[in-house]
Order: sequence, then structure tokens, then C-alpha cells
Amino acid sequence: MSSKIDTPTNKKKVFFKTFGCRTNIYDSQVMMSSMQDYEITQNEDEADAIVINSCTVTNGADTHVRSYISQIEKNSNDAKLFLTGCGAHTKGESLLKEKRIHGVFGQSEKQKIDTLLSQEKPFYEPGDLNHIDDMVVDEFVGKSRAFIKIQEGCDFRCSYCIIPFVRGDARSMKEERILEQISRLALNGFGEFILTGTNVGSYGKDTKTSLAKLMKKISQIRGVRRIRLGSVEPIQITDEFKEILDEPWLERHMHIALQHTSPEMLKLMNRRNVYKKDRELFEFLQEKGFAIGTDFITGHPGESQELWMEAMRNAEQLPLTHLHAFTYSKRDGTPSATMKPEVNGKVAKERLHEIEELIKRKNFAFRKAVKGELDVLIESQKDGLYHGLDQHFNKIIVDSKEDLLGNWISIKDYDVKEDANYANV
Ligand code: SF4
Repeated sequence: MSSKIDTPTNKKKVFFKTFGCRTNIYDSQVMMSSMQDYEITQNEDEADAIVINSCTVTNGADTHVRSYISQIEKNSNDAKLFLTGCGAHTKGESLLKEKRIHGVFGQSEKQKIDTLLSQEKPFYEPGDLNHIDDMVVDEFVGKSRAFIKIQEGCDFRCSYCIIPFVRGDARSMKEERILEQISRLALNGFGEFILTGTNVGSYGKDTKTSLAKLMKKISQIRGVRRIRLGSVEPIQITDEFKEILDEPWLERHMHIALQHTSPEMLKLMNRRNVYKKDRELFEFLQEKGFAIGTDFITGHPGESQELWMEAMRNAEQLPLTHLHAFTYSKRDGTPSATMKPEVNGKVAKERLHEIEELIKRKNFAFRKAVKGELDVLIESQKDGLYHGLDQHFNKIIVDSKEDLLGNWISIKDYDVKEDANYANV
């Protein structure tokens, strides 16, 4: 696969620093693909410009961006700094006033990257929060899977979350653009597609279609082998969605965001899911052979020891196999930021470890119980060993004399160890 990075030119060099979620990975990719007048560099020391694609999910995320800027300043790298991503809306103006960055632009402006980077004067172009991309990206630098953004924004209003205020309400990308994008990628050799967005499961609400319909259409594209979804919400697993669960192209792993397992905490967090129904849904998916991951926040205000213990008892009952957990981090401007009583940071960390340990154990048990072959996409190579992910989103480390990078392989014999599965091929 060709890449702009490999082409030596006399063009000025741009380094992309991406913070945060898959949406940001995608947005950085769009910027790289849109750039004609500059060259991408992987080395920030030789960059003439650095584009910081920021995240602002928590106050902590803002701090990371600020520390990154300080680090660049300390290294007396005289590259011009540009700020985009969610942080452009919350911290852009102040960083510009402090003259720590040259330009700020909202993610809706990213396709104008050449013009923005060439602006001599400092600028602030926050763009339009209702913007929706119209861009077809046909290759992904350094990845063997392709991330496809199918929607933007979120209509939920979880108490702790700033995202709807910086990404706007939910809106879907045009179906024909998504299908065209995937067709091109499939022609370039990509077989696995991960559908992403701020709130993926709300795809189609505004365009009178649905996620299930879109996925069926994607599956019919030649070359598409596996489809994965970013995080979906429990209420988005509708009856229509349940009908596609047996399709062979659907990854046997779902990531369903619960955020908590105590009913009272879910109310405080203004979540739309209800523990009892979550459990029914997860058990249904378990019966169908799915590995199930979730997001979880520990230490949100109001999480008393009693509620925490209840949450752990409930989590124990759920057939969970993967976890993406965070300690709560205050985000100014959200309802949770003023809620009391707050939970001590050390306690929140202990709870995080507690739930992580629980899910690790469950994951190990799940892997030991898996029957049949693993369908693996080899994604990377480290210290002479190949690393891949199977259909249940479990890691496998493969020793082989053949060059397996980017290959799909079926693995029958493997060892299940605590940290990962291992095989010789
Ligand atoms: S679903 Fe909740 S946590 Fe997720 S982006 Fe929307 S408001 Fe934020």
C-alpha cells in the first residue's frame, strides 16, 4: 500500500498529534488525506507545523493537551502549532490569546487543511457544530483495519459528558458516501471495517434508516470480511438489530456502553440504560456466543461504598469479557461537575482496579471455554512475534517463520494464557 509518508519531497512537514477517541483518529486521517501542499512526518522534531487533534472529554484531557504544548515549547521546537478537535471549542480561544498556538480550527474545517496551515496570521475558525463530513478516505496509514465514521454527535445527555456540547447533536453521514468509502477500501485490500462515530447506534435516526440496514448493505460489498462496531448503547440493540446477530460477517464481539451497573448511579449519571434490562440483553448475546465489552466509570459523585458494592455484585452477574474503564474526571460545564458528595480519587482508582481484575478473570474464563477455530487478523509485529485479534476481540500472539503481517489466518491449536492466547503457525 502506498503512503504519502514514504514520498520524500521538498514540501514543508506536518506532524499530527492525535489525542482521544477513534473519531479523532478518523478526523486526523481525513486531514492527512486532504493535505496536498504539505508532507506528513512521523517525527515531531523535524516538523514545520504540528496539528494537535485534541480531546476534551475530561479536565484531565485538557491538561494533556496543555502539557503536550509545554513539552513542545520546552524542546524549543519552532514548529507552528495548530489546535483542532473537541478542545478547539473549549480551550482554543484561551490558548490563542496566550499566543501558545498559531491557529485554532473546528473539525468541520479539517478538509481545508492546506489553506489553514498556510495562514500567516493567527486565526480562530471554530466552524460549524452541525457539519457532517462528505469525505471519502481510501487508505489508512499504518493500520490493517479501517475505521469508518458513519455519524457525528450525540442526542444523549449523560450528566458527566461534555461531548454533545462540543460535537453537536447526532447526525448521520450519507449512506452512499459510506458505501463508496468502504468499496474503495475493500479494493485496496482492507477486509475489516470498524464503524465509528460519537454515538454509532444513533445512525439513521435522522435519515430514516438504521444501523442494521447499513450493516447489511456493507456486508454485500465485495471484499468485506468482518464488520465491527464502535461502542453502542444497550437501547440501540433493537429487534431489527437482533436479526443480524447470526450473520457470519459480524464480529463475535460487541461493545455496549453501560458506564455503571448500579441502578441508582445510572440515574445520577442520566443514563438511558437500566441494569435489569442490560442483564437480559447481555445474557441473550452470551447465548449467541458473543464476547461482550463495556465502558465503565468509577468514582462518579454519589458512588457510595454501598452503591459500589452493589455495582460489583451486579457486574459479577454479567457475562462481560472486555472492559474499558476510567476513573471519573470532572468536566466543568456538565451537571456532574457540581454534584456532591465527590469520591476521593484514590478510592476511584481502587474501584477501577477492582472491576478491571474482575473482567480480566472473566475474559480468561471466556477464552478457556471457546470452542473451534480462531479467525485472526494479524495486525502488527513486535520483537519477532505477530500480534492479532480474533473474532472475539481477544489478543493472540503468533510465532511464525512466514510473513503474516496483514493476513487472515485460522488457528486451531493455541495456548490460553492469562494475558493472551499464543500459537505457533
Ligand atoms: S452517550 Fe452519553 S457519554 Fe456517550 S457521547 Fe453521548 S452524552 Fe456522552
